[in-house]
Amino acid sequence: MGVRMKIDRKRVLVTGGAGFLGSYLCELLLKDGHEVLCVDNFYTGRRANIRHLITHPYFEVLRHDVCFPLYVEVDEIFNLACPASPVHYQFDPVQTTKTSVHGSINMLGLAKRVKAKILLASTSEVYGDPRVHPQPETYWGHVNPIGLRACYDEGKRCAETLFFDYHRQHNLRIKVARIFNTYGPRMHPNDGRVVSNFIMQALKGEEITVYGDGSQTRSFCYVDDLIDGLVRLMNSPDDFTGPVNLGTPYEFTILQLAKLVIKLTGSKSKIVYKPLPPDDPKQRQADITLAKKALQWESTTPLEKGLRKTIQYFKELRKEHPR
Ligand code: NAD
Ligand code: UDP
Ligand code: UDP
Repeated sequence: MGVRMKIDRKRVLVTGGAGFLGSYLCELLLKDGHEVLCVDNFYTGRRANIRHLITHPYFEVLRHDVCFPLYVEVDEIFNLACPASPVHYQFDPVQTTKTSVHGSINMLGLAKRVKAKILLASTSEVYGDPRVHPQPETYWGHVNPIGLRACYDEGKRCAETLFFDYHRQHNLRIKVARIFNTYGPRMHPNDGRVVSNFIMQALKGEEITVYGDGSQTRSFCYVDDLIDGLVRLMNSPDDFTGPVNLGTPYEFTILQLAKLVIKLTGSKSKIVYKPLPPDDPKQRQADITLAKKALQWESTTPLEKGLRKTIQYFKELRKEHPR
């Protein structure tokens, strides 16, 4: 007789489930034995990201824009819907704010009606161009409310406000994750983010475009580590709401990243310098003291290892779509 595992099967809604992070989250939730409803309007997400899940008996996809009401029955909601790269979120900035604000209101309204637990994928961008370094959750940030990044930064800040007001006013069980720069396979090759840009440029033998003098810093988290953190946060006790930083304390300059990508791809690409976009944060490093303590979480994948896997993914993608 086979061993029967007792599974506490939940119905989980993942908005933005066809995106980079969402697709890994759907995969992990299915592996853990849950039913997954992936809701996405395919604005920046792709069917290819979830193609391998389509035949799974507990997986369902719904094309839907979270700016409109949604009536379904679920136990947990991961609200990830929102374009995440500056190129994508600045393409239609009004839509970006609507997605964060109207989308969060609808998902919170849904959570309230069905008494579901709900998690927000917020961002280190709520800290803006930070004056405190590294950034702890207690820092209120330094955001330009009328700049080109504001549609994303202020949208997410307002989403956080909504989550905490639904928690205080309606006793909703909420979780807020502040995600720092995350990378890995399934990033969109044209999303303009630094990791995907540098790798694609290196593989094509094109110039590597460093914005500014490349002295600005980021800390890069590998996708598998990040998803583990999101699930731990959802499963944490109800009295733990966050906000909690999910990222790494290992900080690199953008120039260091460019050189590392050139080394790992063996590319002959040359580095060129382009103007720094307005309001581009000068430094960013996650203080993960809280995540370590409350979630027993920290990222374990070194940048070089994660980059190798990501480079391999983009190489294969280029074989399938040579141009
Ligand atoms: P992504 O662009 O790959 O995924 C976002 C998904 O949301 C896409 O599938 C897109 O089609 C979908 N979407 C956008 N607007 C929608 C709408 N109105 N209705 C329904 N679906 C919609 O980006 P990602 O990197 O996977 O980011 C996922 C979430 O994590 C986002 O909320 C983002 O702000 C947050 N985040 C990501 C990072 C990162 O480094 N990747 C960092 C901080 C925060
Ligand atoms: N909502 C939804 N699905 C639900 C319940 C609510 O999309 O299952 C939407 C609803 O359209 C509303 C929003 O969530 O605009 C906020 O709901 P809430 O009950 O908080 O506010 P109200 O309906 O009182 O405006
Ligand atoms: N960047 C760069 N060259 C590129 C793309 C980005 O130098 O081709 C820089 C960008 O100016 C920023 C950093 O890399 O300082 C991270 O950019 P990304 O868009 O990936 O994320 P975010 O700025 O939102 O952290």
